[in-house]
Amino acid sequence: AKEKSAIFIIFGGSGDLAHRKLYPSLFRLYKSKVLKDHFAVIGTARRPWSDDYFRETVITSLEDYFDDDKEIMEEFAKHFFYQSHDVNDSEHYIALKNLAGKLDDQFEAGHNRVYYMAIAPRFFGTVAEHINSEGLKTKDGYNRLVIEKPFGRDLDSACELNGNISKAFPEDDIYRIDHYLGKEMVQDIPNIRANNPKLEQALNNKYVSNIQVTLAESIGVEDRGGYYETAGVLRDMIQNHVMQIIGAIASDDPKAKEAKVIHKNKCDLFASLKELSPEEVDTEFVRGQYDTDKTGEKKAYRQEDNVAEDSNIETFVAGKIEFNTDRWSGVPFYVRSGKRMPDKSSRIDIVLNDKVKELGIRPNSVVTLLIEKEDGNSILINGLNYKDAGQDFIEFPEEAEFDNAREAYESLIIDILSGNRVHFTLWDELRSTWKYIDTIRERWDSQTPEFPNYISGTMGPDAAEMLLERDGNSWIWD
Ligand code: NAD
Repeated sequence: AKEKSAIFIIFGGSGDLAHRKLYPSLFRLYKSKVLKDHFAVIGTARRPWSDDYFRETVITSLEDYFDDDKEIMEEFAKHFFYQSHDVNDSEHYIALKNLAGKLDDQFEAGHNRVYYMAIAPRFFGTVAEHINSEGLKTKDGYNRLVIEKPFGRDLDSACELNGNISKAFPEDDIYRIDHYLGKEMVQDIPNIRANNPKLEQALNNKYVSNIQVTLAESIGVEDRGGYYETAGVLRDMIQNHVMQIIGAIASDDPKAKEAKVIHKNKCDLFASLKELSPEEVDTEFVRGQYDTDKTGEKKAYRQEDNVAEDSNIETFVAGKIEFNTDRWSGVPFYVRSGKRMPDKSSRIDIVLNDKVKELGIRPNSVVTLLIEKEDGNSILINGLNYKDAGQDFIEFPEEAEFDNAREAYESLIIDILSGNRVHFTLWDELRSTWKYIDTIRERWDSQTPEFPNYISGTMGPDAAEMLLERDGNSWIWD
């Protein structure tokens, strides 16, 4: 990619996300010369730090990920500046504006601004409004607002948040990050579909028995118990990441290149989610919370730090999602995400039926897309690498070959700097998915679960297996 120019203003510049994800990604972009001479990063947070101290923290976090010479890290860090800031104080925005203007002149950054919310979600609206009202936006460059998850905690709060930010920024300038959309395999799904006509021909209710999306983690909540108590897997993984992955595999017209068309197709798909009645929640969705492991050594969720002893937050969800479209009606999308499962795994399993014979595909084949980068560019057919599977209905499209170097955040930041909105989520998509998720949440909140109900290191509660057995199906990853 060509060199880009911008001033980044990172709200929450002293935080965990900034140090673990953003600065390492910006450094990678610096090494690949996407960021070179014409950029600067302003970190803002409450603490009164000097530029020098801020730069030290940036370099320290880089040292965890890179073994480059310190010299190049120091050169990079010269682009970093710190401004202490309280989100509610108007004057601080003026100071930010002046600093950004000064740095824009110094680095010739083309009057482009990226406002990045690496801050608690309750501040998103306030910050966006102040950016607008205190005149931080430039006239002759772009002004893009980047928002991290969680985007609300239900439909109402998401609407409110969206109302606040869209008073300050037009939809086209809002980049809502779902970092799964930054993962190479997820980005390549449309390519894979578009380049494999037989597979694409099979992707509908005539030939698909079911589709399974699994996002499994082996770790527990670690030190994020406090956050997790406000979330749970349903909000943290299903509403956003799992839905977006389904969007990539199931929306129409994978050949579409234009962001507007791609988004419309995804919006249409999510608008056709088959709503659940409260009673259907009981039969179509399963929740779980981890207990200790078989040896009794690991902490149960309720024993984790900052977690209530009687917490009813779920650390596991499995469910059956359906769509009311000509293409997909009748096809179950089984989804599953949990902590303390046997391994880390992110995968899509497409289970074909016996009619695919007429397309020249071996009956009942299973096509698996492995989403984690560590798995390389893997497509499996019946558990074998697609090249060794003895069935030639899938070729990995050449232009999609993984370079296996790009982190999700790195790729998303390039998109933000290029104005490419394809891999970000639209408000309409979130509205539909929240609406769907709220029904489940409300039902669950009205009942008391029997937690904990699965042993750490297992596939979750038995009910998650029965959910599929009942339909004559079973989990492929088991
Ligand atoms: P964090 O607590 O580590 O950092 C929060 C930052 O906000 C700090 O820099 C803090 O100084 C600043 N801040 C707090 N109150 C402020 C105020 N009144 N005025 C100005 N600045 C203030 O949090 P984090 O883990 O970095 O998360 C930041 C955001 O990113 C959250 O919305 C979180 O949900 C989201 N997120 C984080 C991760 C992650 O891996 N950490 C992953 C996905 C999304």
